[in-house]
Amino acid sequence: WIDRGSGTTSVGRFWTLDPIDGTKGFLRREHYAVALALIEDGHVTLGALACPKLQYGQHTGLLMLARRGAGTSVLPLADARAEPLAQVRVLDGSDPAAARFCESVESDHSDQQVSHQIAASLGIPTPPLRMDSQAKYAAVACGHAAIYMRLPMRADYREKIWDHAAGSIVVQEAGGRVSDIDGRPLQFTHGRQLNANRGVLATNGRLHEAVIGAIGRRCRAV
Ligand code: AMP
Ligand code: MG
Repeated sequence: WIDRGSGTTSVGRFWTLDPIDGTKGFLRREHYAVALALIEDGHVTLGALACPKLQYGQHTGLLMLARRGAGTSVLPLADARAEPLAQVRVLDGSDPAAARFCESVESDHSDQQVSHQIAASLGIPTPPLRMDSQAKYAAVACGHAAIYMRLPMRADYREKIWDHAAGSIVVQEAGGRVSDIDGRPLQFTHGRQLNANRGVLATNGRLHEAVIGAIGRRCRAV
């Protein structure tokens, strides 16, 4: 079924699926995600993000569900037919120095040296929360962190739509903001890749401009 769905549509209505996002985390028995999203006329309208290792209160293993205009809810993955545990909201702090950011475990996937410099320039003393997969978007949506930075390592790498579609709506519907590192909205109209974007930034919204400013020209892969 996965092979049958290997189309390249960029118009109309289609689903995008990452059956195991964060494969390296899956192999290490750490964070990974199953990410499904519906894209309609270039807009992500539905996102389902299963994060088997993520915690919310007493629960480990979460299903995040987001529908455009209807918010993001969190359900226990062990019983996804149960009522949602809650509608989640991003943190509402606006002081970057009090923020925590998350990034990839894999140093090939995001520039950890530059993120360290950016954190220092924003006065963030807390070490990053390093996690594999789109569980990082879920962590921002649930308030475990306020910022997710994905800083390109290579100028020619283009992010894949299935690595960001579900996660982005999960953050946006929780009240956060998602763009690329230049502040441009993610454009899901260029086939399998985010060809019009570079890197990704997801925040609680209130911190977005400050982080974009701090990223500035620091990114090496331009
Ligand atoms: P993460 O778990 O956040 O590190 O991201 C995992 C995703 O990174 C995989 O699903 C890949 O599609 C993607 N990926 C692979 N190579 C790169 C790269 N050079 N830069 C950014 N992302 C990558
Ligand atoms: Mg992936």
